[in-house]
Amino acid sequence: MQPTDSKEAEGAPVFDPRSRQDVYRVAAETMDLINRHEALPDPVSYAVWFAFAARSNGALVEAVSKRLAKSGTLSPFEIAEIFAAFLEGGSASALSQTIGLKFEDSLTAVSELIVEGSKNNASFRATLDALGKRIPAAGSAGDIDAIVSRLVVENEKMSRAMQTLDKGLAESKAQIERLNAELEEMQQLSLRDPLTEVANRRAFDTRLAEMIREANATHSAFCLAMTDIDHFKRVNDTLGHHNGDFVLKGFSAVLQKNTKGKDMVARCGGEEFAIILPQTSIVAAHNLMVKIASEVRGARFLSDSDHERIGRITASFGVCEYTPGLSGDDLFERTDSRLYAAKRSGRDCVRSDLSP
Ligand code: GH3
Ligand code: MG
Ligand code: MG
Repeated sequence: MQPTDSKEAEGAPVFDPRSRQDVYRVAAETMDLINRHEALPDPVSYAVWFAFAARSNGALVEAVSKRLAKSGTLSPFEIAEIFAAFLEGGSASALSQTIGLKFEDSLTAVSELIVEGSKNNASFRATLDALGKRIPAAGSAGDIDAIVSRLVVENEKMSRAMQTLDKGLAESKAQIERLNAELEEMQQLSLRDPLTEVANRRAFDTRLAEMIREANATHSAFCLAMTDIDHFKRVNDTLGHHNGDFVLKGFSAVLQKNTKGKDMVARCGGEEFAIILPQTSIVAAHNLMVKIASEVRGARFLSDSDHERIGRITASFGVCEYTPGLSGDDLFERTDSRLYAAKRSGRDCVRSDLSP
């Protein structure tokens, strides 16, 4: 990376998100930064570098500059960390800003085509009217021939104009469909954790609120489980963040493998995950976590030699059943306190309403 990043960004004019010129300028700078840092232009990394290039979020700029000064670049982990700390929540609008501008372009093109079409239509009508008025006065077959030929020419002109209009509208329709698909993909991505690809905290909060509404309306049971990898810091400290990320991916894969249908696995932060288990009793939820704990204990998430250096990877679990009247925060706190009871009991175990 070039040591000029922060200087360049410092000298940049103030970013106005309503100005398309500014958005394009900052987007170009963003791609430049992404290339120089050999980062992936995925939505999260794009959002972080975009916010850095725009310099409108002082705290984010400071955090990025600090890391750049230290190590010259941002690791994928640091990018995810900065995104979670400074952008999550407002990021969807930042991401859709560029798409929003593209939509505007398409709509302008469509309205121009429609205006053009109606002008052609009006001139065609005027010609027809004028020719219509001349018919009663036509004295000879020659006059009628002239009127008919003129009608044929006008009709061809109109039909060519209609073909152009049709083609233009079809192109605009295809472009709008492409933009819609892009926007939908971005919305999906904004609900997923980029590292583990499970749901992120925002998606989790939305689903939990839905589950609570449904449980109160239909008196259906559901459980919340929370899990946190034990002594995860040791993995990072001993083998580096890269291996830490590897463990996170492997761990979340075990959670996903053991859940299905309407269950939701979400990364709530760092190495902490939550699992929503609809239509599940506390006994079933507790037993499922015991099974997952045992699979994690037996799994090898790293290469054999690395795994040996770390020793066993284990996780602790807390499980609670929803009882009507509780809020999402109440349920989250209760489950979290079960999880910490598991940590206090020596880790690598499950604590729930069933525990003594
Ligand atoms: P405990 O058993 O009490 O849970 O101990 P712990 O070491 O797992 O917990 P602690 O909260 O002390 O450390 C969690 C660490 O997880 C610190 C943080 O740097 C690391 N971490 C958080 N997110 C990520 C990530 O995305 N990737 C990597 N590699 N590390 C992460
Ligand atoms: Mg931990
Ligand atoms: Mg933790």
